[in-house]
Amino acid sequence: MRIWAIKRKWGSCSTAGRLTLNAELATQPAQFRREVVVHELLHLKVPNHGRVFKALMKAYLAEGGEEASAGMVSSVDGRT
Ligand SMILES: [Zn+2]
Repeated sequence: MRIWAIKRKWGSCSTAGRLTLNAELATQPAQFRREVVVHELLHLKVPNHGRVFKALMKAYLAEGGEEASAGMVSSVDGRT
């Protein structure tokens, strides 16, 4: 399922640490919501989608026993 291919912002995270999520996210599968939330929370630590970001993303999602989907990082909020 290539749900990550959707070109839309699901969430954003301001430099002040304010997390904003798309209201439509509530209609998405639980795992997707979780990945978006983790993604945005990680931006509090890592402002880009570099190697460190991907490694942390994978580690956090692996904690929940789920396989992290690599390559979807930038489609969540359009950041580069
Ligand atoms: Zn992002």
